[in-house]
Amino acid sequence: MAKWIVGNWKMNGSRTHVAEFAAGLLAGFPAGARNGAVRVGVCPPAPYLPDLGSRLEGSPVLLGAQNVHPWAGGAYTGEVSAPMLADLGVKFCIAGHSERRHLFRETDAFIREKLAALLEAKLMAILCVGETLAQREAGEQTTVVQAQLTAALEGFSAAAADRLLVAYEPVWAIGTGKTAQPQQAQEMHAFVRQWLKSRLGDLGQTIPILYGGSVTPDNARALLQQPDINGALVGGASLKVESFLAIIQQAIN
Ligand code: PEP
Repeated sequence: MAKWIVGNWKMNGSRTHVAEFAAGLLAGFPAGARNGAVRVGVCPPAPYLPDLGSRLEGSPVLLGAQNVHPWAGGAYTGEVSAPMLADLGVKFCIAGHSERRHLFRETDAFIREKLAALLEAKLMAILCVGETLAQREAGEQTTVVQAQLTAALEGFSAAAADRLLVAYEPVWAIGTGKTAQPQQAQEMHAFVRQWLKSRLGDLGQTIPILYGGSVTPDNARALLQQPDINGALVGGASLKVESFLAIIQQAIN
């Protein structure tokens, strides 16, 4: 399957950054990544979605959102719904990022509702899972990830399998500069793959599983060469167009 490289800007950026990043990304987009050879997406903060979306229109780069509220609309001050994202040309959205789980106390049940809303709006969803350092040190990583998958995908319909991606993001590796060793990440990806197959049969084989956690141009290739690592969710290194392009380059066979 084609590798995915997705940038998550988090709460960073400006109108100037959007303009410079989009121009640099389109000018430097590697020929070998075109025609779906590498699937590339960028998730700016919500206010910049329309501007980045119009700059990327007609390009191979998919517009992504970082967050969504599960409800479709109404008196919910400050929230953004999945139909609104779809209306803006957004193609996919992150759900279950550890920053939202930990800093904003999002529960598995809430994440399941977000996934359902995204899929209902015909958007793709990247479900993030991953253990904390304390959980890994206690040897609980697979139990934690299995529980997150089970809860978020309760009631998930196989008909939406072509719009689901999973990202394994060990919390101890996010924004810390500590990357999981390729073999360590592969072990968890193989576990996630088995879980998806046990839940969805052959369709479980088709769902991309991305790795996230301090991915850089220097470590991307070794991670992406692992058999069950189908892409990368990139935070810090996606903010500079040069490093984001270099990671895309590492995903080309
Ligand atoms: C992320 O935000 O999903 C992430 C993996 O961040 P970083 O690459 O900065 O660790």
